[in-house]
Amino acid sequence: MARIHEAVCRLCRRDGMKLFLKGSRCDTPKCAFERRDVPPGMSGARRGKLTDYGVHLREKQRLKHYYGLMERQFRRYFQMAERAKGNTGDRLLSLLERRLDNIVYRLGMAQSRAQARLMVRHGHITVNGRRVDIPSYLVSVGDVIRVKQRPRSLEYVKRVSAEAQRAVPDFLERSDGDVPEGRVLRLPEASDVSIPVQVQLVIEFCSR
Ligand code: SF4
Repeated sequence: MARIHEAVCRLCRRDGMKLFLKGSRCDTPKCAFERRDVPPGMSGARRGKLTDYGVHLREKQRLKHYYGLMERQFRRYFQMAERAKGNTGDRLLSLLERRLDNIVYRLGMAQSRAQARLMVRHGHITVNGRRVDIPSYLVSVGDVIRVKQRPRSLEYVKRVSAEAQRAVPDFLERSDGDVPEGRVLRLPEASDVSIPVQVQLVIEFCSR
């Protein structure tokens, strides 16, 4: 599985915004972006104005890093969005939000998308009663996402969700019984993405 190997706080500093890649640390004064919001590297603070190309590239990189994707995966979502009916930008954001690792994170079952991805990979999550270990699985309306009913999985998810304490977005519903579960109430829309993103710039960059 391809992974981002760079120290993730550097990504936030380079992209110029908090991308919440490190779980609970992101909301504490230890956040590297809060302490030093300039690009990493020797000349980070001295960097001049971005070119038009740079502005478009940065916006695309923000979105890609936010969802923890590699370039090839991101391009695949762009191609899917282009082929689908409707506004390409809205379709792209909806597809990214529908990834299973994102849904597990948005349900508050993991502290970060990277942690959610590992949980899915390690078989802690089921969709409609069946184990799904593919983080890029796209959820649909009515899908029920549950933690696998085994002591190790339940204990793990209860511990991380107690630490995560995050509001669940409108398109999802979460219930905390003996086995935490979530339901997809509707397909996510552009307005459900929780960071400010100028998706038109991303589309323009990918269409070059
Ligand atoms: Fe980004 Fe979180 Fe690191 Fe802050 S702590 S720089 S939000 S990854």
